[in-house]
Amino acid sequence: MNQNELEKVIRTIVTERLTMSPQADAGTDEHCDNCGIFADVDAAISAAKQAYMRYRQAPLKSRSAIIDKLRCELAADIPEISRQSVAETGMGNVNDKIQKNQAALNNTPGVEDLRTTALTGDDGMVLFEYSPFGVIGAITPSTNPTETIINNSISMLAGGNAIYFSCHPSAKNVSEWLVRRIEDLIFQVTGIHNLVVTIAEPSFEATQTMMAHADINLLAVTGGPGIVSMAMKSGKKVIGAGAGNPPCLVDETAEIVKAAQDIVLGASLDNNLPCIAEKSVIVVDEVADSLVKQMQEYGALLITRTQDIEALTRTCLPEGAANKKLVGKDPLTILQQAGIDYGGQPPKLVIMEVPKDHPFVRIEQLMPVLPIVRVHDFEQGLALALEVEHGLHHTAIMHSQNVSRLNKAAQLMQTSIFVKNGPSYAGIGVGAEGSTTFTIATPTGEGTTTAKTFCRTRRCTLTNGFSIR
Ligand code: NAD
Repeated sequence: MNQNELEKVIRTIVTERLTMSPQADAGTDEHCDNCGIFADVDAAISAAKQAYMRYRQAPLKSRSAIIDKLRCELAADIPEISRQSVAETGMGNVNDKIQKNQAALNNTPGVEDLRTTALTGDDGMVLFEYSPFGVIGAITPSTNPTETIINNSISMLAGGNAIYFSCHPSAKNVSEWLVRRIEDLIFQVTGIHNLVVTIAEPSFEATQTMMAHADINLLAVTGGPGIVSMAMKSGKKVIGAGAGNPPCLVDETAEIVKAAQDIVLGASLDNNLPCIAEKSVIVVDEVADSLVKQMQEYGALLITRTQDIEALTRTCLPEGAANKKLVGKDPLTILQQAGIDYGGQPPKLVIMEVPKDHPFVRIEQLMPVLPIVRVHDFEQGLALALEVEHGLHHTAIMHSQNVSRLNKAAQLMQTSIFVKNGPSYAGIGVGAEGSTTFTIATPTGEGTTTAKTFCRTRRCTLTNGFSIR
C-alpha cells in the first residue's frame, strides 16, 4: 500500500470510529447503502478490498469478537434459514439442515486455529505465523448453501480475510439474506462495512468475472468438478472442494446393528446431499443379509423387483448423470416419480441390491437411494471401494472390528476423510471428535478446511537473540 492509500485508510478508520470494543458500535444507526449486497462484481470486490485494508489495521481481538457475535446472534436464525434453504432450492429437509447449520456455526474453529510457532537457538529466533490472503472469492454450492456461507465466513474471517461470496443462483435469496445478516453483525462489532459481500443477481458469468478479477487473492471453490477445474485454470491459488462418491465398506467382523444404523443415518442426512454421505454400500456376502435386514429396521425401504430397480435407475440417473430435478428430494417423491407404489410409513432411505457396475454405484447420485453390492471378502470389497471412489480421494467409510483391515483400507483409499465405525458425518465432527467444515478440499489437497487453510504461512527471523533456553 502506498502512502496515499495508507492515509486514506487511516482517515476512514478515524471517521468511522473504528473501535474494537464488541459493544462500541452496537446499535449504531450509521447508514449503509449496500450492506454487503452489490449490483456488480467489480463494485463488490472493490468494497471488500477497502474493508480488508481496514480489517488489517484492526486489533486481532476484533476477529474473535466477530466470531463470538456470529455464534451468538445467528443461532436464532438457523431454523428460518434452514426452512428458506429447503423452500428455495427444493432440496434436503429442514431438520437436517438445522443440524448442519448448527454444526457449521458452533463447531467451525475460530482464531484459536492459528497457532504461532517459534524456533529458537544459538543464532536467534524464527516465528512462523498465519497471515491473511486478502479478498477471498468463495464459491458456494446449492447443496449446502447456508452451511458453507457460515462455515467459510468463520474460517476466513478468523484468518483476517474479506470475502466475496459467489452464491449458487438456485439459492440466491437465502444466501443474500445470510450475507446481509453476517455483514450487519460484523459492522455492529467492528464498524467495518463490506467484509463479506455478494451480488444481488448471482450468475455463472458473474462467477467467471470474479475468478478473473485482479483483486481476488484466493479462490475457495465448493462445488462440482466443472467449477473446480474452471477455477484451477484461473491462474490464481485455488482451494478446491470438489465432488466425491463415498463408498461404505462393511466386512464380516463389523457390529452389524450399529453399522446398519450408522449407514441409514449417514446416507439419509439431508436426503443424501452432503458430498461426504455414503453413496454406496459394499458388504461381505457373509453378513449382507443381516445388514440389509437391520437397515430396514432403521427405516430403509428395500426395493427388490427388477422392474422397480430399473425404473429408479431410469428416473434418477438418466443419461448417465444425476437427474437434477430429483437431487436432494425425499424418498417418497423419488418413489412416486419412478412410478413405484408405496403406501407405508415414509422411509428414510431407499436401498436395493445391484451388481458392482450399476450406475447407482458409479455415479454421485446425491439422493436417498443407496445401492448395495455384495462381495466375497474384504479384499474384493476394498478393491471395489477404490474403483468406485474414482480416485477422487474424498471420503470413505468402513465398518469392521479388524484393526489391520481398517488400517489397510484407510491407507489405500487415501481419502481426505476416512470414517471408521460411524456415520459419514462423523468425519465432519458431527457426533464425533474434530471440527466441522463444509469445504473439504480434496482436489487441491488441504482436506478438511479450517481458518489456517485460508492463510499464508509466513516466517519472521530475528538474528542473535531471544533464545532464553
Ligand atoms: P455446482 O458445481 O453446480 O455449483 C457450485 C458453484 O459453482 C455454484 O456457485 C455455481 O453457481 C458455480 N458454477 C457452476 N458451474 C459454473 C459455471 N459454468 N460457470 C460459473 N460458475 C459456475 O455444484 P452444486 O450442484 O451446487 O453442488 C454439488 C456438487 O458439489 C457435488 O458434486 C458435491 O459433491 C460437491 N460438493 C463438494 C463439497 C466439498 O466440500 N468437497 C461440498 C459440497 C458440495
